[in-house]
Order: sequence, then C-alpha cells, then structure tokens
Amino acid sequence: MNNEEIVAEGKKYVMNTYGRLPMAIVKGKGASVWDADGKEYLDFVSGIAVNNVGHCHPKVVQAIAAQAETLFHCSNLYWIEPQVKLAKILVENSAFDKVFFCNSGAEANEGALKLARKYAKKHLGEDKYEIITMKKSFHGRTLATLTATGQDKFHKGYEPLPEGFQYAPFNDLDALQEAIGPHTCAVMLEPVQGEGGVMPGEESFIKGVRELCDRHHLLFIVDEVQCGLGRTGKLFAYQHYGVEPDIMTLAKALGGGAPIGALLAKEEVANAFQPGDHASTFGGNPLVTAAGVAALTAILEEGMVDNSAMVGEYLIHKLECLRHKFDFIKEVRGKGLLVGVECAKEVAPVVASCQEKGLLLLSAGPHVLRFVPPLNITFTQVDQAVAILEQAFDS
Ligand code: PMP
Repeated sequence: MNNEEIVAEGKKYVMNTYGRLPMAIVKGKGASVWDADGKEYLDFVSGIAVNNVGHCHPKVVQAIAAQAETLFHCSNLYWIEPQVKLAKILVENSAFDKVFFCNSGAEANEGALKLARKYAKKHLGEDKYEIITMKKSFHGRTLATLTATGQDKFHKGYEPLPEGFQYAPFNDLDALQEAIGPHTCAVMLEPVQGEGGVMPGEESFIKGVRELCDRHHLLFIVDEVQCGLGRTGKLFAYQHYGVEPDIMTLAKALGGGAPIGALLAKEEVANAFQPGDHASTFGGNPLVTAAGVAALTAILEEGMVDNSAMVGEYLIHKLECLRHKFDFIKEVRGKGLLVGVECAKEVAPVVASCQEKGLLLLSAGPHVLRFVPPLNITFTQVDQAVAILEQAFDS
C-alpha cells in the first residue's frame, strides 16, 4: 500500500484519537526512516524518545528473533530469565533495588501511584494518600495518570477524576512547600519535563524537593519515561542533580521499540507490594525483556550516553546560532538530546515544512519544537537537520 491508500483506510478503520501527518512510516534503520512511497527522512522524533538506540538496532533485532524462536510468553506465575536479567542491569546501574515490569509509561506511573499509597498507608498513616505533581507535567492517559498530569486540557471531558492529587508549579520550591497538606504522601515529577515544553528542572529545585520530602516524610517519585535511559546525557536524568529518589518509572526507550514499562523502587518502598497487590499479564514478558536487555546493553556499551551529552551540546550550540538569526526564537533549552526551541509563533507549520524537506520533528505544546533523535546520532546528521530547519524557518 502507498501513503494515500494507508491514510484512506486508516481514516476509515482506526479510531480518530491522533492528529497524524498524512503518511505512513514503513521502514527504519539507525536515524533514518522511509515512508510508504519510498521517501527517506532523518528522524529527530525517534517514535517520541523511544528509539534511543536507533531503528532496528542489530542487537535488538537479533535478541527479539532469538527469543521469538524460543518463547514469546509464559506468565508471571513463573520466573522469567530475560526479565530477571533486565531487572539486574537496571538495579546495578541505578539507585534502586527492585523492579516491576509493565507495558507502558502510563502503566508504570499507575504502579508508582499505587505503590506510594500502599507504602504511605502502611508506614505513614491511613490518612496519607495525596500526591503532589507539577503543573505542565505529563504522566499518561489512564484516569489516574491523566489526573496526575498537571495540564487541564487532558482532564476535560473525563470528570469525575480520581481524588487525591494536588498541583504545584514546576521549579518553585516555596509553592511546593505550601501545597503540602496533612494527607500528602508523595511528590512526583519529571526531572526534565517533556510534553510540557522541554523544561529542565533547576538544580536547587530538585535538590530542594528531596530535602522537603525527607523533612515531611514524603516519597519522591521521578517519572523518567521520556527523560531516562541516556536521553539527557546521563543514564537517568535524576543523576544530574546528585539526589536519589525513592521511586522511578521508565518506558519508551526501555525496549528499544518493544512495548515495555518499568517501576523501580528502593527496597523498603518496594516491600510495600506483596504477592497479589499488583500485576500485569504481559508485564516483563520474555520477548520484550529480551529486547530490553539488548537495548540497554547497547546504550551502556556503545557510548550512547556520552554521545547524547556531547552531540546534544553541539545541537544546542547550532540552535543558538539560529536564535541569533531568527527573532521569533525565544529560547533554546534542554539536556543531552532532549532539546526544545521555544518560538513566539505556532510551530506546526515548521514541523510540516521540515517533513516535506525530509526531517521529522516534533512539537511540545503549540510553541516549542522538540528534538529527540536517536542517541547515536552523528554531528553530520545534526548539521543536516539544522540546515533543513533553517530552510523551513526561511520559507
Ligand atoms: N510519562 C511521560 C513523562 C511521558 O512523556 C509519557 C508519554 N509521552 C508518559 C508518561 C506516558 O507513556 P505511555 O504513552 O507509554 O503510556
């Protein structure tokens, strides 16, 4: 099928929940993808921060093929070897002790909310259940995670929303302190906000959140679904801040493209979950965790975290040069290869123009262009992308 045919049939049969560009991607390799008409694009979207190792990374392809020949699925009634291996690599490379696997970022965050409440009720008191999240945050589309999401537009039409959430402005410690009430049990945030416009947490804020949580006996939850796994130039974004959270969620890049999520916690917190408390049929199944082991090994062994830091800095430098040329660019910001360009005008036409010219870009809200290429992107590919963007800005 060509682009036109896929789009026409898609409109007929697929539920209309996405504002999609009128093309279908049918093939990918590294930082390139091809549409159904054979046109090649440089991919600075990476499936929205999923393809950190690039498309069809040979280690991931090989691991999935080998696992598919052996065992797709068996159930968490039994121990699963690749799941155990992936948990071990995550624990050995983070501040956490135990891992629960699920299928998406929203599901990981649901698990984190449940774990925080379970822990708090057990250790802090039956009346501790409220979770403070940040304005402009994004945590998912299930009822609890869309409620945790600090943007009204995601709430509209879904009321009544689950109780027990409060919101505080990001990077404002005084406001956060004021939001803490008698029922608060946890603070949850993205160390670098993604959907909210690519907004890095300030060092004094993130450190201050840890101190506030310690002082008030609250759990500190980081949602690293988008900013984790090398994206910001460290394996986990919290590592930029010299703090250790109590709970962390992951998804997106964890499976190298295979759908998987994870919830990590310190031992004492993790122990609040006992057999029967939480579950997921597909969570951590052999196929996706084999992919996860391969993807995470590639990130760690192929220098992708350092490349993300180094090439990310170069990308920011190149975008700063554009800022001096184009008045409507207000700010360039980000960490590693999670970069945003805030404009004084809507960016949707720029995204469309870049697509026509062979560059896939993403927005983060109406005024921010978001750059999330694979972590093994080269300086030359950054030059190509920025040259296309400059043409799009000129036109
Ligand atoms: N948390 C963050 C920070 C995200 O960026 C996203 C997805 N954009 C999610 C959670 C939800 O992940 P999923 O779509 O896999 O449910």
